[in-house]
Amino acid sequence: MTITCPHCQSENDFKVLDHINIDRNPELRAKVQDLSCFRVKCPNCGETALAVHPCLYHDMSNQFMVWLWPEEEAAPEAQFDPLAGYTLRVVDSLNGFREKIAILECGLDDRAVELMKLLLLMQITHDLDVVELLFHALDEKTGEFRFVAVLSDGAEQYAAMPGSIYQRLREDIETYLYTPSSGFAKIDMNWARESLSLLHEMGE
Ligand SMILES: [Zn+2]
Repeated sequence: MTITCPHCQSENDFKVLDHINIDRNPELRAKVQDLSCFRVKCPNCGETALAVHPCLYHDMSNQFMVWLWPEEEAAPEAQFDPLAGYTLRVVDSLNGFREKIAILECGLDDRAVELMKLLLLMQITHDLDVVELLFHALDEKTGEFRFVAVLSDGAEQYAAMPGSIYQRLREDIETYLYTPSSGFAKIDMNWARESLSLLHEMGE
């Protein structure tokens, strides 16, 4: 893959990871979470830069695949047969990539988590200028869901929601919403916005 260095503009070829099997290469897990596996070092000026490229993340033990597809055009149809019991997701950003992996590693339903994020965002946007809201962690002791809001000035603010909201949203999703299981679905905040209005209509 040819990458133009953002510091000196020189173009260089790099070998990039386009497929990660985390069961075979567990050491890559930390490198995905700190994004170092997307970092390349320019041989010309020595600076490092993030190279955002398509990458398929496969977790066999937790039965999911997350496909980072940052391109303008739609992701190609998956070439393999639908895998029974697998969750297949496509994301378009590095933050979305590691967030989705973190959610699915916890065994959580990412649809309910995206709806929680939307509800939380509607609560906090009155006071805060939120650029991005991301799942941070599930507190095993309290059952609380923790989120991090990235603000327009670059600061980060943490917020929590009780697990009971997750349970309720999950029940609503199971009852009212259908998500195809065969292809790679994009479950993000846009999906949450559409789904929330659908749920409102059905609840009336
Ligand atoms: Zn350079």
